[in-house]
Amino acid sequence: MMELNKCKRCGAFFVSTNSVCPNCEPKDTMELAKLKGFLAENACPNSMDALASNTGISVKNLNRFLQQEDFSAIASQLELTPPIQTNLK
Ligand SMILES: [Zn+2]
Repeated sequence: MMELNKCKRCGAFFVSTNSVCPNCEPKDTMELAKLKGFLAENACPNSMDALASNTGISVKNLNRFLQQEDFSAIASQLELTPPIQTNLK
């Protein structure tokens, strides 16, 4: 049976195990590269809003990207606690 996913960027339904549809995949890839590049060259801003305005990536997409393992250090700096560990300060 085919499994339909809803794209996290545009809301389109598509068949894949990815979180975004094939149309949005290049945008995700580009923004992830931009985010990694920014973080490699700059100190992490102290808020999501600052990170969003510095990278041009929406807060919504940043939230999604920062859930990836690669960004766990950044996520904890920004106090984005993963869903499994709440209220740990
Ligand atoms: Zn999409």
